[in-house]
Amino acid sequence: MANVIVIGAQWGDEGKGKITDLLSRSADVVMRYQGGVNAGHTIVVKDQTFKLHLIPSGILYPDTKCIIGSGTVIDPQVLIAELDQIESLNISSKNLLISEAAHVTMPYHRLIDKASEERRGSHKIGTTGRGIGPTYADKSERTGIRMLDLMDPQGLHEQLEWTINYKNVILEKLYNLSPIDASVVIEEYLGYAERLRPYVVDTSICIYEAIRERRNILFEGAQGTLLDLDHGTYPFVTSSNPVAGGACVGTGLGPTAIDRVIGVAKAYTTRVGEGPFPTELSGDIGEQLCSIGAEFGTTTGRKRRCGWFDAVIGRYAVRINGMDCLAITKLDVLDGLEEIKVCVAYEIDGVSTEHFPTNARKFARCRPIYKTLPGWGRSTSDCRSLEDLPPQALNYLKFLAELIEVPIAIVSLGASRDQTIIVEDPIHGPKRALLKPDGTPISLKSA
Ligand code: GDP
Repeated sequence: MANVIVIGAQWGDEGKGKITDLLSRSADVVMRYQGGVNAGHTIVVKDQTFKLHLIPSGILYPDTKCIIGSGTVIDPQVLIAELDQIESLNISSKNLLISEAAHVTMPYHRLIDKASEERRGSHKIGTTGRGIGPTYADKSERTGIRMLDLMDPQGLHEQLEWTINYKNVILEKLYNLSPIDASVVIEEYLGYAERLRPYVVDTSICIYEAIRERRNILFEGAQGTLLDLDHGTYPFVTSSNPVAGGACVGTGLGPTAIDRVIGVAKAYTTRVGEGPFPTELSGDIGEQLCSIGAEFGTTTGRKRRCGWFDAVIGRYAVRINGMDCLAITKLDVLDGLEEIKVCVAYEIDGVSTEHFPTNARKFARCRPIYKTLPGWGRSTSDCRSLEDLPPQALNYLKFLAELIEVPIAIVSLGASRDQTIIVEDPIHGPKRALLKPDGTPISLKSA
């Protein structure tokens, strides 16, 4: 039995969907703990492509229980469309459960999200405009609507009438927008409630029972470490906690329930939206990575900015998440390059550092210090073991593992399930140890 958290080790879009889907094979339960429909995973199974936003990737396995935890926020309209999509593909949703404590995205959240982003002008954050930030803001402000409120028609009437009155003042006075008709929204959301009612339960009980029954549980992070509200590149972050610690809060489990943390990182780096990006490539190589890697957002279709692998970020992700091992994705995207750079440290105001700066202004001044490695000049997408890889590709992986001090358990060389090298069993295999018995840092095993 192992309870595993899968997190993104960069700015999201690392290919967590594919890795979670692979690991779901050995999971009895897959649970989402944060984020909303701003997340997007693409999973390719044979010739079918699935784009999931809220439903955990485990839904593609018929016997896996899939839980949307209390730390997520739910846009019922989008969730229902997603349910319709999977059902039209003959995938059952019978194993889906939704936390009654999860907050609900309302029409005013979407309106306020877009209007406030416009109002920010050159200070915009680059949100997806799906209302996620305002939904979490209402959660903190204690004016949120939860799934359990949606299940209570009388209560919902009272609560929404008051809330929409309040939000209309903001919409009209602050943003010059038309007010919302409460009765229309109430009717719309009561319709959603009926469709979702069979799935809504107290998921903290279900997950605790799964722990007691010694089930294998996979906690599926959305977004990535650098988008974390507390530990990411604030203010260009999401409104929740994608880091491993968020899994306990967003599911209602104590930290003792977690056995290991698997990080997912691309063999290079991408970033969507605004904010500094030290290893960003603006020329031909950046364009090449973008087009070969199909770097366009699953949720918004936005073009992703591309750059070299950044080991300062990698080390930070290892530290902040307590990462035990790493899955490296999209190695194949680097196949055609003559040489590949890796950022080994930053220079900030003339001083070199290996530590990721918390201060956003300092981060904006970071210059990457690179080490250049030779490329491998041939395709890796058909490689199925480390021995199949060109020696330069293997060296590249070893270099990354040693730099960020974590073993590589999985290497992904294409979007489909079989384009994968399992170096070691990520669930029961490598576990990062911090210190030797004599207290000195351990020399960590690389790929
Ligand atoms: P996620 O949210 O972290 O799952 O990332 P996305 O799904 O937004 O983006 C990852 C994209 O890369 C998807 O289109 C995947 O199908 C694709 N992908 C995943 N792993 C690989 C890989 O190893 N190689 C290539 N070429 N594509 C991959």
